[in-house]
Amino acid sequence: MIGLIAATAAGAAARDRLATAWPETTAVYDGPVKEAVARAFAECDRLVCFLATGAVVRLVTPLLADKATDPGVVCVDEAQQHAVALLGGHEGGANELAHAVGEVLGCRPVVTTATDAVGLPGLDTLGWPVEGAVAAVSRAMLDGDPVRLDAHDVHPLPALPPNVTATTDSDVRLVVGDRVEELDGRTAVLRPPSLVVGVGASRGAPTREVRELVESALAGAGLSARSVAALATVDAKADEPGVVATAEHFGVPLLTYPAAALEAIEVPNPSAAPLAAVGTPSVAEAAALAAAPGGELLVPKRKSAPEGRAAMATAAVARRRPRGRLAVVGLGPGARDLLTPRARTELRRASVVVGLDQYVDQIRDLLRPGTRVLESGLGAEEERARTAVAQARAGHAVALIGSGDAGVYAMASPALAEATADIDVTGVPGVTAALAAAAVLGAPLGHDHVSISLSDLHTPWEVIERRVRAAAEADLVVTFYNPRSRGRDWQLPKALEILAAHRSPGTPVGVVHAASRPDERGEVTTLAALDVTTVDMVTVVTVGNTATREVAGRMVTPRGYRWQS
Ligand code: SAH
Repeated sequence: MIGLIAATAAGAAARDRLATAWPETTAVYDGPVKEAVARAFAECDRLVCFLATGAVVRLVTPLLADKATDPGVVCVDEAQQHAVALLGGHEGGANELAHAVGEVLGCRPVVTTATDAVGLPGLDTLGWPVEGAVAAVSRAMLDGDPVRLDAHDVHPLPALPPNVTATTDSDVRLVVGDRVEELDGRTAVLRPPSLVVGVGASRGAPTREVRELVESALAGAGLSARSVAALATVDAKADEPGVVATAEHFGVPLLTYPAAALEAIEVPNPSAAPLAAVGTPSVAEAAALAAAPGGELLVPKRKSAPEGRAAMATAAVARRRPRGRLAVVGLGPGARDLLTPRARTELRRASVVVGLDQYVDQIRDLLRPGTRVLESGLGAEEERARTAVAQARAGHAVALIGSGDAGVYAMASPALAEATADIDVTGVPGVTAALAAAAVLGAPLGHDHVSISLSDLHTPWEVIERRVRAAAEADLVVTFYNPRSRGRDWQLPKALEILAAHRSPGTPVGVVHAASRPDERGEVTTLAALDVTTVDMVTVVTVGNTATREVAGRMVTPRGYRWQS
């Protein structure tokens, strides 16, 4: 029996929902909570208390006897956000109960005992299948015990803790690969999606014949079906029921290729039969290789072996080259709470982080222990871009970081100009300085606006000036990035002069230094009154258009539909 105890109205409502969901197995304990908990503790094998954990700790402490006999206790908070397995996680069944309560009430189970945290730390985010002694290896990884990493290739894995390395001498092993392993209680295996099975089939080939052929092709080579990423065949067989059903059986997509594409692929065992039937001398081998560019053929063509009739299916297996991963991650303007959750996830997804040292400092504490950090000083932009791409091409999971948005006057363009099609690229947008500053200033970007960098390191000044003039003529709100540094002090006055030819001296100008950082300073002034010496390289300057007004100390650019000129 599960005893239910509540003290408040919200607790009682949640208690009643649980009692209604589990009428046979629950009992409500009413009355003063102290007595209610004591009675339930004596009479039930599990308790759900709709009380704060602190209160429950005090109430049950005098009642504790033995781990083997004490009931499991779960606490649900007043807002029903969490179901905490407080006591008796294993023996008392609290861990399981916390999950079950979570299902009914829609709250998150909180389980803190070690063996229940069976995800390999960090690796559970990959979505790759794991098998073997996952709990034992997870615990060793978490406890800092030596764990040997056996991986045949470089895979785009998140950083592993320093106690997990290929050179560690330990019989606790984490294997990353597609080969069948003997499981010995000390080995966990992570299955990368590395295999592609090419399949050929005559019309009407029975599903069972195709499936058993695929299974035996894998097993015969000591390969795990859990590493199969896709089945592949020729276009003409895209609807062949036995092939389609086999892909479904393995839970993978069926990739199909035109006969002409397969014909062009060199294979060890071409034959005349498929050439006549579908127009390519190879289906199974060629399709497997087509789906694994640059990969290797592990299992040459095999035929099915049905009893008493001719074979109707062929299969071959290829291994794909692991694809590295490049995440281009914007960190936002500086404040931690303006770093997006997605950026945070990508930082923890990476094993290599590349960036300017001052940006790495901004997020160093978020990186997984064991993350390789390749930081460099100002300037070395091209080199950083090349390094990030080279690391991804070597198969690693790389995060290339930049402040604000990594695509705005930052690393995304030099990196992607170097990137090749053999890596996966993902971009994470960040809050760029213009937006962070706008929020400080009010609503300066309420109508059409443009950003212009005043740095003439990469761009000739004539080009910059032409763009400033165009923005001035088009009456665009302008945000200047890189406005002024010690060695570059005449560009901002010059740019403002160009704008002033088209806007009144009273036009509002916003100056924001270090937006969202502890030393943030924001000021709304005017074109005539702006003191450019207050502007430095950690500042953006936003100049209003002819409709922008200062309202209660804030900069407001009206939207077009209420235009007043
Ligand atoms: N990728 C960045 C911009 C890099 S260019 C982004 O999207 O924000 C560098 C310039 O950005 C600086 O010279 C400054 O003008 C501006 N900048 C960056 N962070 C800033 C901040 N927190 N406050 C004000 N300006 C900032």
